[in-house]
This record gives sequence, structure tokens and C-alpha cells, in this order.
Amino acid sequence: MFEKVLIANRGEIALRVIRACKEMGIATVAIHSTADSEAMHVRMADESVCVGPAPAAQSYLNIPAIIAACEITGAEAIHPGYGFLSENAKFADIIAEHGLTFIGPTADHIRMMGDKITAKQTVKELGIPTVPGSDGEVSDADAARMAEEIGYPVLIKATAGGGGRGMKVAKNAGELAFALSTARAEAKAAFGNDTVYMEKYLQKPRHIEIQILADAHGNVVHLGERDCSLQRRHQKVWEEAGSPALNAAERDEIGGVVTRALAQLGYLGAGTIEFLYEDGRFYFIEMNTRLQVEHPVSEAITGIDIVREQIRIAAGAPMGFSQKDIVFEGHAIECRINAENPFTFRPSPGQVAEFHTPGGLGVRFDSAIYSGYRIPPYYDSLAGKLIVHARNRNECLLRLRRALDELVVGGIETTIPLFQKLVREPDIINGDYSIHWLEKYLAGLEKPAA
Ligand code: ADP
Repeated sequence: MFEKVLIANRGEIALRVIRACKEMGIATVAIHSTADSEAMHVRMADESVCVGPAPAAQSYLNIPAIIAACEITGAEAIHPGYGFLSENAKFADIIAEHGLTFIGPTADHIRMMGDKITAKQTVKELGIPTVPGSDGEVSDADAARMAEEIGYPVLIKATAGGGGRGMKVAKNAGELAFALSTARAEAKAAFGNDTVYMEKYLQKPRHIEIQILADAHGNVVHLGERDCSLQRRHQKVWEEAGSPALNAAERDEIGGVVTRALAQLGYLGAGTIEFLYEDGRFYFIEMNTRLQVEHPVSEAITGIDIVREQIRIAAGAPMGFSQKDIVFEGHAIECRINAENPFTFRPSPGQVAEFHTPGGLGVRFDSAIYSGYRIPPYYDSLAGKLIVHARNRNECLLRLRRALDELVVGGIETTIPLFQKLVREPDIINGDYSIHWLEKYLAGLEKPAA
């Protein structure tokens, strides 16, 4: 096992990794920008190294400084968390070139899944169901014929896409040329690459993803699904395990398809296969080759520490369990508590004046804030994740209500009031929502009262 691990991240996820390391007896090295010298991850790690000024490009994305921090402190492995360098294949290559270990999959698998066309073709060949579409680059000349074949409405998507950018819907032939040119322009501006492909646009799908873990000894398991349909501008807001729309047989079936595919690929580490789900069918949209923000809901229902397993797998150890040992117990929900206005979502950085976290059975709060902490304006606005677990979904909703009412984050605006409303909405209580539900709900709230 590693003796010392460097965490190339900040905020709640850096704490999450430090906690796993402590329980495994591994020493930890935090990196930080000059804006984060008072941050909790710096206080909690055994050692810390300042890697640059506030802008992430000069600090948390500064590869030479991060490698130097490893060399100075003698850390043998790097955990990238999520975001920042976690899906950067070049970073994984450079780590290996320096004789260090990247806690994650191989650089080749990161690269493969980072390009959407390659990813889709690869998983399709491995037997994972995909959205009907062009299965490759679409030229302006071929687009009309292809759209007729697929059937309107169609979605134009950027190969290099991410965060919902470079994605445009054409409801009919009349809208196609405009959708193509705007998707290309957006992709060019955001990713410097205007390659696009085409998919059937699903009208009311849910977002359901499967968490997997794979070790270097050929053992691949899935930890069930997460339903992340409640999204705003393609950003997840609320996640559940399991999905209110799925039964145990469907979970076993899609879980089996995914684990067999990834075993064939020789995948290593943690990963998530994201699907749209409509009328009982799954359609692959992308694979994330890293730890995800919403991983705790899967941990809650399986009792498996995903970060611990990532570290063990990277060190070459076999997982201590196989699929038949994994039992899904109860239901879990995560709410992303952002430092934002709850209805306009305008970021609200600043000083946390009061802070009280909820407790009690089945309540977990992953956060790096503390009373008096000043949330810097440079990074994402995730201030904490409230995760509740109970024996069934109904009890989970009641517990979530109670925990939200206990949670106090004063001095800044947060999304807590939004969740206090959501947890009382009949559609949410009934689990009856698609990926469009939250946007429509928020649009309705903004209308002035009649
Ligand atoms: P990104 O990497 O930009 O987030 P994804 O491929 O993951 O792109 O898609 C983001 C979101 O866009 C999905 O969660 C879903 O809400 C929507 N989406 C993607 N593909 C389709 C599709 N074929 N039909 C309907 N909605 C889609």
C-alpha cells in the first residue's frame, strides 16, 4: 500500500480523500492556491504545498507544480478528485513518466471516453445500448438525410462536448441548419473543435447512471444506479440511489451489461456509465472515468467506501468482494448545497457567519466550510453535500426534510430553501420527474403571482 498520497484538489472532495487515507494509515499531502491557505483541506492534511495563485489554471491545474509537490514531499500517488485534472489523460501520462501512480484508470481509457464519438462507438461494440444516431461525425451535407433516417426531433452534439455546451435540438427540417451552425459555433468557442454528431432527441428521459469498480485482477462490480434527473442547465442538483423508476430486475440487468463490457475493456478503477432512460430502455450518453460528486448515495446503499477501493485498486490490491457480496439496502438522497441564490443561482461567495450541520441516524454532511470561513469567488460554488439514508424512499424523504431544517449556513445565500420546497413537491414525493422537470418548475416559480 502507498505510504503517502497527494490530493490534487480542494474543497469537500479533498477532505473526502484525506478521510479515506487516514482510515487506511496513509499520510496525506494537500495542495492549495494562495487563496486557499486557510482552507479546511490544508488544515486536515498532514502536509501542504502552495502550488500557485488563485486562478485554477495557475494552481490546481498547474501540472509541473503538482509534480514538484510530489517530489518535495515524497508522495507516491496522486488522487485527482473530480473536476480539475481528473479526466486529463496527459496528466495521467506525466504522472506515470515520473514513476508516480495516478489513482484512476489508464490514460488510454481516459482519452477514449473523453471523445464522445470514440466513446459511443467503443461501448456500442461492447454491447452497451446507445442512443440511435449518426455513430460518427456529421457533415452539413449529410445532415438532412441523416436526420430523416433517425427521425425528428434530433440533437446535434459536439464530440468534445461537456457541461451541456455545443448541444442543440432541431424539431424539424426547418430548424436543422440553424441547430448545426449554432452547435458548431458554440463547440468551436468552448473546445476549439467544431466536430459534431447527431442523436435522436429523447423527449422525457430520466438520467440514470451505473457506478462501477474494477480491479487489476479481472474483478468488475457495479454498485447499482443513481438517478440524477433533477438538473438545472445540465448540472445535477439532487441525486438518488436507487432510482424511483427502476426495479431490482432492471438494475441487475443493466448492471450486468455494464460490468461485462468493462471487464472486456480491461477497465481499472472507479467509473460511471451515464444513460438516459425512457420507456424501460437505456441509452448510453457518456462515461466518466473518475470519482463523481454524487458517489456517497451509492456508498450509503452498499456500505462500500468507493474512495478506499480506488486507492486499493491503484496500489494493485484485489477488491475484497465480488458482485454477489454487494447488497443494496434502503434508499439514499443527496442535495448539493451550493453557495448560490436558491432561485436565480447567482453565486454568493463570502464569509460563512453561522454554521450548524444536521446529525442523527442516516445523515452525512460532506463539506469543507466552517464558521468564519470565507468562500473564495474563484472556484465552483459547491458548499456541501447533504446525504441522507433510510430504510425506504418514504422514510428517506422525511429524514431529508428534518435534516434540511436543522442545517444552518448563515452569512451567504445557499440552495437550502430550494430543497426545502422540492422535498414537499408531490411529483418529487412520487418520484415522478424527468430531466426537464426542474427547469419547468423553476420557470414556474419565476412567474409573478397572478
Ligand atoms: P455533457 O458532457 O455536455 O454534459 P451529455 O452527453 O452528458 O453532455 O448530455 C448532457 C445532458 O443533455 C444529459 O444529461 C441530458 O439531459 C441531455 N441529453 C444528452 N443527449 C440527449 C438525447 N439524445 N436526448 C435528450 N437529451 C439528451
